[in-house]
Amino acid sequence: MTATTTTKIADCPSCNVHGPFEIVFRADRIPVNSCILIESVTAAADYPRGDLLLGVCQACGVATNLLFDTGLVDYRPGYEVSQIHSPTFGGYARRLAAEWFERYNLGGKHVVEIGCGSGEFLSLFLELGAGRATGFDPACAPSDAGGLRLIDREFSAADGQLGGDFIFCRHTLEHLHDTGRLLDQIHGYLGPDSGVPVCFEVPDFQRILDECAFWDIYYEHCSYFTADSLARLFRRHGFEALDVRLTYADQYLVIDARQAAVRASATAPVATDGLSALRESAHRFAVQCAAMLDTWSGRIADWRRAGRTIVLWGSGSKAVGFLTGLGCDAEIAAVVDINPAKQGVYMPGCRPQIIAPRDLVTIKPDVILIMNPIYTEEIRDDLTRLGLAPELVPLEMEGMPAHA
Ligand SMILES: [Zn+2]
Repeated sequence: MTATTTTKIADCPSCNVHGPFEIVFRADRIPVNSCILIESVTAAADYPRGDLLLGVCQACGVATNLLFDTGLVDYRPGYEVSQIHSPTFGGYARRLAAEWFERYNLGGKHVVEIGCGSGEFLSLFLELGAGRATGFDPACAPSDAGGLRLIDREFSAADGQLGGDFIFCRHTLEHLHDTGRLLDQIHGYLGPDSGVPVCFEVPDFQRILDECAFWDIYYEHCSYFTADSLARLFRRHGFEALDVRLTYADQYLVIDARQAAVRASATAPVATDGLSALRESAHRFAVQCAAMLDTWSGRIADWRRAGRTIVLWGSGSKAVGFLTGLGCDAEIAAVVDINPAKQGVYMPGCRPQIIAPRDLVTIKPDVILIMNPIYTEEIRDDLTRLGLAPELVPLEMEGMPAHA
């Protein structure tokens, strides 16, 4: 890929305009899921694959996988996204919950989460003093105890009788192709003009573009948002954005919204703030990404030729995106994860086994590639305790071509 191309092959699932799309990234035959835990290396290799062609809609700015096949993605139990085992992430989650709790006076109130996983984050609101918490997630184990109710199906307008004083949804919208449908379901759930705060958190696409972070583009994320395109989507679907901000070392976008008094017409022209700057960023990404992939492949080949043992730290989607984007999984000795539920198993489409930090004492790595630089100091401390001092290489901007 040497330059941006545009295509008109589809209607934008977020705004229904028929292209054009600015193509920023293509990855063929990548695993359709990057968080499923797999028992054997053979099953990991055989995991279903799909194609990714990421295009930025030039009408609304949402980036979409134009080849996404909803039928290929399966969020069964076993889909493991919990990062609660990391003190860095756990601290962030607690701060975010406290911020929302205070801002919206949620003491004694009913809090509703869309896509709640095992309910870890939702439970924080009960600890803070919320009266009741309800979570929807097709992959959760249903339960109802101590004020916490987990419902193992998709959030839907049909459950509106359950009500709620605060609705939030973290890291779910980017998994949806038809992004507006969920926002429409929330209107149906709440009824008109509820005034209930509706807050979402998604990865920030601007950072992915600016850092040429190809490892943050993977199959189950079929939609990507900048602050402008996220606010535009909410406006288009009858919400007013109260606040859009960057969080978590500027990796995430958080939008606080509520139902707009006057709903925009579905056919009204969309505001174009930020679209030309986004086009430039998308173009830059497309040009730099090929050089970035070459640089990383070269570094890994050099390390291996020098007989150095390479390990990845972090077995989440970034690791799958990195290994399958580069096709370098055979060069990696192992992938470390501090989450005990992931140790001993494999990631889709990837050969290295996931291990515990203590297993590094046997492997004695020379280089550790850190999938999320925010954990670098936490990882350095863990390694010091194990008596290890390998070279640490955080992914952030690493491998960026010299001319970039
Ligand atoms: Zn669009």
